[in-house]
Amino acid sequence: MKTKFLFDLDGTLTREETLPRIAAHFGIEEEIRLLTEETVRGAVPFEASLQARALALGIYPAEEIAALLETVPLHEAVLAFLQEHRGDAAIVTGNLDVWVGHLLGRIGCRAFTSRARVEAGRVTGIASILDKGAVVRHYQAEGNRVVFVGDGANDAEAMAAADIAIGAGLIHEPSPAVRAVAQRVFYEEEEMCAYLERL
Ligand SMILES: [Mg+2]
Repeated sequence: MKTKFLFDLDGTLTREETLPRIAAHFGIEEEIRLLTEETVRGAVPFEASLQARALALGIYPAEEIAALLETVPLHEAVLAFLQEHRGDAAIVTGNLDVWVGHLLGRIGCRAFTSRARVEAGRVTGIASILDKGAVVRHYQAEGNRVVFVGDGANDAEAMAAADIAIGAGLIHEPSPAVRAVAQRVFYEEEEMCAYLERL
């Protein structure tokens, strides 16, 4: 049986949540900080949070946000693992295609994202929100064993569906929902990747 490795993006591969980075760039940190914290924790449903972000940030050019996120610092060991296992690894992110497109190009593996509605270069709404659990089930239906690595509340359902669920506590404590379903939680990326290599 083949093993497929699915990774959340924000906080799992990136060394910071991307939303506060965007907010800082545009000078709206305070408005966004609480929303991010509450979303990661699971207090604000991901769908509502993504809608709010799309509206708050839709006034800015999507291309400017994409260029900003292209340079976000990444967990280098996690990136190396992804690139080494490129054929059997994918990024599974609720973030919007038009915002993370350049970053995903830099990472260079398969990716599943939420999709934005865009008019005149600006996000005007959400076309679809990624169902991370559906991606897990898709790979399982093809006969794969699926490993899911995530940190936020919106990863928990997919992690519960996965064959092996790994909680990533690399930049903050994983959400309670993640801790509830993860077989292992790692706080150090080299240790986590060494474990993944043995699966
Ligand atoms: Mg995350």
